[in-house]
Amino acid sequence: MTRKKQFKAESKRLLDLMINSIYTHKEIFLRELISNASDAIDKYYYEHAGHVSPDQFEIRLEPNKEARTLTIIDNGIGMNKEELEENLGTIAKSGSLAFKEQMDDESKNDVDIIGQFGVGFYSAFMVAKDLVVISKKEEEPAWRWESDGESGYTMEEAQRDGHGTTIILSLKEDTEEEKYSQYLETYELKELVRKYSDYIRYPIHMNVETSKVKEETKDSDKPEYETVIEDQTLNSMVPLWKRQKSKITEEEYNQFYKDHFFDFQDPQRVIHFSVEGNVSFTALLYIPSHVPQGFYQQDYKKGLQLYCRGVFIMDHAEELLPDSLRFVKGLVDSQDLSLNISREMLQHDHQLKAIASRIEKKVLSELTTMLTKEREEYEKFWKEFGINLKFGVYNNYGMDKEKFQDLLLFYSSKEQKLVTLNEYVNRMKEDQKDIYYVSGKDVALIDKLPIVQTLKKKEFEVLYLTDEVDEFVMNTLMNYREKTFKNATQGDLDLNTEEEKKELEKTKEDNKDLLEFMKESLKDKVSEVKLSNRLSEDPVCLTAGEGLSFEMEKVFANMPG
Ligand code: ADP
Ligand code: MG
Repeated sequence: MTRKKQFKAESKRLLDLMINSIYTHKEIFLRELISNASDAIDKYYYEHAGHVSPDQFEIRLEPNKEARTLTIIDNGIGMNKEELEENLGTIAKSGSLAFKEQMDDESKNDVDIIGQFGVGFYSAFMVAKDLVVISKKEEEPAWRWESDGESGYTMEEAQRDGHGTTIILSLKEDTEEEKYSQYLETYELKELVRKYSDYIRYPIHMNVETSKVKEETKDSDKPEYETVIEDQTLNSMVPLWKRQKSKITEEEYNQFYKDHFFDFQDPQRVIHFSVEGNVSFTALLYIPSHVPQGFYQQDYKKGLQLYCRGVFIMDHAEELLPDSLRFVKGLVDSQDLSLNISREMLQHDHQLKAIASRIEKKVLSELTTMLTKEREEYEKFWKEFGINLKFGVYNNYGMDKEKFQDLLLFYSSKEQKLVTLNEYVNRMKEDQKDIYYVSGKDVALIDKLPIVQTLKKKEFEVLYLTDEVDEFVMNTLMNYREKTFKNATQGDLDLNTEEEKKELEKTKEDNKDLLEFMKESLKDKVSEVKLSNRLSEDPVCLTAGEGLSFEMEKVFANMPG
């Protein structure tokens, strides 16, 4: 009979392999340890619900340059001897996941437990050559767990005041590639907390040396400074986007935007909303008031910041924004994302897709509201970002054109103002079949074209297309409210009343010989010579036949081969 044997793994190698293959940035160790501390406090809070107040808890960072140690202390639930062995002695054992699973559904919503994979703790070995954990559960003795991440761990009884956990990292020696001592610098620790753990809901404290004006010299002409140690809270705790909308001032929204999205100007619009459903999330979005720097460069990164339960996951999550809305800045925070084990990436694409489609809908509906209610604001927006919406029309093989067509603005011969397609169609002449447009370099040039003069004289409205992409947009749209787009410089325009037509027929007959003579003389240069009522001021004009228009020909001619 054969007996089944347990696999044995070289734990040191396994640990190395795992840690170095799942994380791309060593600095996330702090995020992981702080998240664990926050989980531990959540658990204590949950178990003593009703008897404790949230402000008796804290997470504390204590860098010590002499000893080259970084200590992280929490007054959470702590671990007893067995739990230390189980949770820290076993890779991929998550006490937090087990804790969450035994909770009823309702309470699950009240806590924000982050842990689930049982590997985050070991990320500390990316920066530490030795780890000491001293932990105490209420009513139980404290225990000390120590490991160098190579030869297993040791355990012994210890002393600790009150419940909670203290983790002491002895940092590795600095190398060329990595300066581990940076994790002892106040500045760096503050930055890391701000980046990854700003919205942990318990305060993260640290004693910070600052220079302050001496009290007794405060009112004198020459105030003197002294160095004092100040206990600072490094995190903001409640994220702006989790606060009640009605309690947030415009100033707060704008400041947050400028702090987080590197702009020196206020945004044009703030869009803050939450969605409950299959994938629940909160989004805080901004429409900048001007085109961001580098926007038209290849390496411009679109996308939104992504948070999961208030913990920062990544910047520029591109899947959250369609290309047509790449100018939007902001963030999304969701509880429902399945992260991969390093918590740097997402497991499931479809969750992102669901969020992205809600975001697109919301932004487009905000723009629609702006267009109908605040025309001037919208035109300002249009001048900065309108081209992106045109792109939305012909992007994705024109599949999305309906979403964008009502947001488009074009210059019109009517009062030379920007108009929507809807406005154009609403005031079309009764017998007008098509929507007329003419392309050219600028409004003034187009306005001088003979055909435009004629159309204007006959009181037909013409759209002036001045963007290179405009004709692609028209070709993709093909029609709007059952009216076809028609390039007025191309082919025949049916502009005449019955009477005018009869008259033209007659003139043609009368001048038959002349026309034939002209065609003969111009021979290969033109395909046809016609009498036309396109003209009002000018004696002749060239027109393109069906097919490519003059402007399109120019665009193609300018394209890099
Ligand atoms: P995860 O957080 O995904 O569960 P970790 O490797 O980060 O995995 O931690 C493993 C387990 O160790 C946690 O689930 C938790 O039970 C326990 N633990 C880690 N840090 C602490 C702490 N500061 N206080 C109490 N328990 C902790
Ligand atoms: Mg963890």
